[in-house]
Amino acid sequence: MASNGPRKPKMVVFDLDYTLWPFWVDTHVDPPFQKRKSGEIVDRHGRVVKPFRDVPKVLAKLKQDGYIIAVASRTACTQEANSLCALFDWDQYFSYKEIYPGCKITHFNKFKKNSGIDFEDMLFFDDEYRNIRDLSKVGVTCYYIDENIGVTEGVIEEGFQQFADGIKAKSR
Ligand SMILES: [Mg+2]
Repeated sequence: MASNGPRKPKMVVFDLDYTLWPFWVDTHVDPPFQKRKSGEIVDRHGRVVKPFRDVPKVLAKLKQDGYIIAVASRTACTQEANSLCALFDWDQYFSYKEIYPGCKITHFNKFKKNSGIDFEDMLFFDDEYRNIRDLSKVGVTCYYIDENIGVTEGVIEEGFQQFADGIKAKSR
């Protein structure tokens, strides 16, 4: 089949803190987390913990459209981050999760090995420039997230446009 239209990624990778949710899981919220009958997720003190507004629908749409979705986080709070992903019901979307400290090239080498997808076919969203710099150097297209906005439908559109344009990284 001839492929017309813009070039698209095979895998879409997200950071967690200040990309999918508006806090640092190791600092700003206090585990353990639990789900109330209302469906709200709360921390140890009963404070409601929420992702950025558009994130649930963005993940559902990407999955529906057939993209492989992955998470790359360098938080030391691996268990707590995993717990939040599960409570938000996001594990249905994530094919791969690499959550531990250190340079994210390690995380992405795992994605490549486990999925067989090349860096050139990955689109990555992250709010920290050190990660944008590291991954764009090895060929991943990296969208630099504004930590005040996080992932939105508009941001996803811009990221896909950046991928189609072949621009590995942009500064803000
Ligand atoms: Mg972050």
